[in-house]
Formats: sequence, structure tokens, C-alpha cells
Amino acid sequence: MRMNGKEDISLYFHVPFCKRKCSYCHFYVVPENESSKDHLLQGFLLEWDLVLPLLQHKNIVSIYFGGGTPSLFGPERIGQLLRRIEQTRTLSPQAEITLEVNPENATIDWMKAYADSGINRMSLGVQTLNGELLHLLGRLHQPETAIQAVHAIHQAGIGNLSIDLMYDLPKQNLTQWIATLDAINDLPITHLSLYNLTIEPHTLFFKNQAQLRPLLPDEDTSLAMYETAIEKLEAMGCKQYEISAFAIPGYESLHNSGYWIGRPFLGFGPSAFSYWENQRFRNIAHLNKYATLLKDGILPRDFEEELTPDARRRELLTIQLRLKTGVDLDHFQQIHGPLEQDTESVIEKLLSENFLSKKNNVLILTKRGMLFYDTIASDLI
Ligand code: SF4
Repeated sequence: MRMNGKEDISLYFHVPFCKRKCSYCHFYVVPENESSKDHLLQGFLLEWDLVLPLLQHKNIVSIYFGGGTPSLFGPERIGQLLRRIEQTRTLSPQAEITLEVNPENATIDWMKAYADSGINRMSLGVQTLNGELLHLLGRLHQPETAIQAVHAIHQAGIGNLSIDLMYDLPKQNLTQWIATLDAINDLPITHLSLYNLTIEPHTLFFKNQAQLRPLLPDEDTSLAMYETAIEKLEAMGCKQYEISAFAIPGYESLHNSGYWIGRPFLGFGPSAFSYWENQRFRNIAHLNKYATLLKDGILPRDFEEELTPDARRRELLTIQLRLKTGVDLDHFQQIHGPLEQDTESVIEKLLSENFLSKKNNVLILTKRGMLFYDTIASDLI
């Protein structure tokens, strides 16, 4: 979208510090210490200066601090970075600025300090409100800590609060899942992201998968968990607007929506991805190498690829289908160009298999399509 001739863009900052690595985590994380945090801040500022020429005629509509545990980075550092971004007059006054928070870091004073630094939205990693499952995941918080954290964030003046929940966990059953969903009913949240566990390489769960896989919910239970979540969240007033995202109307995430509509974004910090002018690139996943390259005035990228227009179009169509509103094919092709014959044929096949439906040339995932989105994505891309 363009406002006053300026193109909307987003920024992502990867803050890789964690107190301990969770059993299922495949992100780039490192142990926290103050000098590494200063190192990272210097890296962010140098990287910002290097990419600044790209930001002429751009309008930053969202900034996301993800990780890792960005709530360990400190409000002063976040504030310093945000002031630097503000000085360049590229930041929209209505920008959504999100900080990921772990429950064990969420005291009222600490959250208030983040709000004062410029954060206006938080995303809290609750995952589950079952103590045994939190322990199995290797999380450091208890269910009560997560509930207290929600209230602390609310009392600190952050009214826009998202929580993450996970299902399909080893030893999890439908009764436990319903108990977690019921327990969030009265919490002052505006948004929820739902994740099913995937066992990724280079994790403790991957190493122990022979023991863990038999403990995972079976397919029927897994489907029942997803469907129960949709039903209960909608009853709470949290409307599903994407396969895994729910919001009180008006609180849909601006940042996440950017990924689904193909808004350009720049990623900062070790291991961060960017998508910019049909190019995808990634920073090196090593904090010291990242910081050293930047000190030498070199962008710390270790992967770059240029997407062909067809590949980009297919990818964008597939990602946009995640949205409940679907894809208006006339509008889509007007902006991105005509779909290839091959893609048209795959769409016809998916329609005949009841993964997709089409009305007024708007393509929408059916319920079956939502449940088997990965199959659809691999067919289309
Ligand atoms: S807190 Fe998040 S980023 Fe850190 S190890 Fe756990 S899952 Fe990974």
C-alpha cells in the first residue's frame, strides 16, 4: 500500500538471548549477558545506518522485536533504537511496535518501562496453562506466572496484548487443552496465535523423538483440538482472521498481516530474514560474526536469492490464502500479473478436492483446506 507516495514496510529485530533453550526450539539463541546485549545494540545501529538509503520514500507501519527473548534486552536499549528510527522520519505515527515477552520477565515496572520506551503491543509466550506440559517443553514459567504476566502487562498500560498457545504436544489430551482455553476466557487479551508443535531438527525433542512421537495426540485428537480452539475463541469474541491467528475485531496484527500480503520487510540482527524488492536475504546466524562484519562496514548476509516473478506470484497467492478473507483473483492478478497455466490447473484440482472454494472469483480455503494447508502449499509452490 502507498500513502502520500510512500510505500508501507515493516521491520523485524531478532534479539537472540534466552535464559535456557526450550526443548522444541529451533531458533538461533544464545545465553544472555550484558556485554553481548551492548554488542547487539551496536550491531543494530550500524546495520540501520547501512540500510538507511533503502528507506527513502518508505513508511514504517510496524516494528517487531522477536527472538529469543527480547524482553531480556532492556527498555533503554529498545528506546535508544526506536529514537534512532524516529529521527529518520520514516516511522508512521500509528506504527504497531511489538515486543515478545516471556512470562517470567513480566513485572509491572519492567513492562511499564518498555511501554515508556515506545512499545505499544506485546506478545506473551504462554504456550499452555498446564504445569506438566510447560516443564516438558523446557519453559521456565508456571501457569500462574503466565496469568500474572497478562495482568502485569495490562496494568502497565499495554492494552494490545497477544498470547501464543501451543497444541499437539506430547502427553497433551483434549481435556487439558480445553482447560487451558477455558482459563484464558477472562483474561484481558486482544489477540491469540495458535501453534501446533512441529519437531524440528537440532532440538532436544528431535533427539528424543523415538520416545516422544508415541506420546503425541493422534490425528483425530489433533483435529478436535484445533476445532475446539476455533469454537471457544470465537465464543470469546476473538475472531479467526488467519489459519492460526485470532483477534478481537480491530486488533488484527498489522505486522503479521504484512507477511501474508507480501509487504516488504527488513530483518535486523543475527539470523534475521528480509524480503525486499523480489529478493530474499538472511543475516549470518552468529552474534560475534554479525557484529564484526558490521564494524567493518559490511552487511552481514549469508544467503540471498532473487525470486522470479512467477515464483513470487505463486508464493504470494499461497501465503494470502492463509487469510480468512481469501484471495480476490481479479484484484490479485491486476496487481501481481496473470497466474501461470500450471497454477490455474493446481487451483482447479484443489477446488475439485474440496480444499478450496471459489465465489465471485474469490478463492478461499475450506475447513478441510485449513486443516491440510501444508499439502495445499506444497502443491501450489
Ligand atoms: S524462549 Fe522462545 S526463543 Fe527462547 S529457547 Fe524458548 S522457544 Fe526458543
